[in-house]
Amino acid sequence: MAVIKDAPGSAKKGSGVMGKKPGQSGVGLKPGGEDSFFVGMSEDDRKEYLMNMTDAALLTGEVGEIDVTDNDRRRIAVFSNGVCAIATNSRWSPDVKAVLVKAKRVNVEPRYFLEVDTAFMVDLYEHFDKSYGMDDPDNDVPEVERQRKLKDLISLAASRKASDIHMRVLRRYTEVKIRVFGRVQEVGSMPPDEGMAVMQAAFSVASDVGENSSVMSFQQGALNMKSGVLPPGVDMLRLQYSPTSENRGALVARLKFSTPANEVEIDTLGYNDDQIRDIISFRRRTNGLYILAGKVSSGKTTTLQRTLNKMYLEKNKEISMFTIEEPVELELPGAIQCPVKKKPDGTDGFVEAMKSALRSDPNIIVVGEIRSKETAYLAIQAVMTGHALWSTVHAGYALGILDRLTDLGVESWKLEDPGIVRGLIYQRLCGVICKKCRTTMNQALERGRVSSELVEQMVHIFGKDADHLYARGKGCSECKLGLASRTVVAETVPTDPELLSLYSKGKRREMFQYWVKPVEEGGLGGRPVMHHALTKVGAGLLDIDEVEEEVDLVSEYIKNFSNLIPRLQQDVAELEATMA
Ligand SMILES: [Zn+2]
Repeated sequence: MAVIKDAPGSAKKGSGVMGKKPGQSGVGLKPGGEDSFFVGMSEDDRKEYLMNMTDAALLTGEVGEIDVTDNDRRRIAVFSNGVCAIATNSRWSPDVKAVLVKAKRVNVEPRYFLEVDTAFMVDLYEHFDKSYGMDDPDNDVPEVERQRKLKDLISLAASRKASDIHMRVLRRYTEVKIRVFGRVQEVGSMPPDEGMAVMQAAFSVASDVGENSSVMSFQQGALNMKSGVLPPGVDMLRLQYSPTSENRGALVARLKFSTPANEVEIDTLGYNDDQIRDIISFRRRTNGLYILAGKVSSGKTTTLQRTLNKMYLEKNKEISMFTIEEPVELELPGAIQCPVKKKPDGTDGFVEAMKSALRSDPNIIVVGEIRSKETAYLAIQAVMTGHALWSTVHAGYALGILDRLTDLGVESWKLEDPGIVRGLIYQRLCGVICKKCRTTMNQALERGRVSSELVEQMVHIFGKDADHLYARGKGCSECKLGLASRTVVAETVPTDPELLSLYSKGKRREMFQYWVKPVEEGGLGGRPVMHHALTKVGAGLLDIDEVEEEVDLVSEYIKNFSNLIPRLQQDVAELEATMA
């Protein structure tokens, strides 16, 4: 039995999808009118099928009957048997529609649509049309056109609430992707020259561009409102360009959406009640060091901005706040905000600004990020002279912030002083799975999406069967790739003398045990970020795969925190009660 029913009789016998064993299930190629898409076949099957069509002619090739542009060729390939390969997300593009109309004019009825990625599209043309090349040397894109393309791309990314745009110029085309809810997806492609031109267009309107600005060197910059290319709702676009081989390059552009200063509450961001209580206790004080850690796009800026604005209101606007950022990102109507620039000698410029801040009679100092020993020294100095200082560092967990401060040269006796380091926050953002298209863990197991070992671990820690645990679905009309929004997973540590003393004595194990030990038993009652993330997995909000990727492995949690499992089940039940 052929798996592809009614398929054009062109696939090579014994290979590709046709070659599957009799009885094996699969979705066939059935003519279903212009709108039929064969998503049921796996991507590999689609590719193998296309590559093995032996008696079909490529009508959109160099010598084909249908006259198309190079740009069209990156999106669609039409074959004489009615099969069309279409690049990801291009099915409804006007260019593709126009090619389909042309196909009908030469009496070809496009009936079988197979979606493939752009890279494969190029391979497909090479395979069927050996003489065809993608490089077109006389492709000089005018400046106005470049700006328009740049603007369109940013608008597209903004409309999908993307956090980043990734462009990579390859030999035959430029790959364009965006990251939405943490997941990267392809949105299109353009010729290599055009890709380079759009990247250069971005830097031509950027501020803060470094000295060196050739395609051969690393470059950074930021686009602000003045650039004229940002759509409403986007405040800034940070650019990072990396040169790759053969004078090509790659650009990652990070979108910063407007976060109105009048949004000051943190209770909708995803923290649990204990974490909210901790953060409130941090912001009440006008002394001490408070540090947030988490990777880029972990929601740190949002938390910091809301906390500081709320603090300003709670203190009746009677405090003075001074920020030192590179560049200024926080929307703080009550603060004096100093942008910091890298200096020619390579120092980060924070030191000078810090000294100036200390002479400016502040109550609260905010340092965008502590990344040099000098800044760390001055930050501690500021706290020891009676100020509150908020900042961020790179660390992989809340207590790891202490290690980072040690690396930055902060002496152990300072870290042991409970009057200095008072509050630590570590967080990540995880995608909330769409309720409409989510699947049960049992279904995910049947589809081979998760291992039976992982399902067993989940059943064990949650005390629920796999029909009441959920995984991210494929995506539907109400979500993006199975995700509906994002939520914070975090751990907060209000420090105390015992904890800091254990740290400075190097008793790490005891320190962690003391932190997670219940308050009734004399500990701090802390719960690690993995516990918070798992609480949301148990309540059907997060996908276990993403949590394992972004936070930690379930097996590690079981190994290190098995005593927290009863608490986990209780936390899941409480969270579910608030969701009901
Ligand atoms: Zn959905």
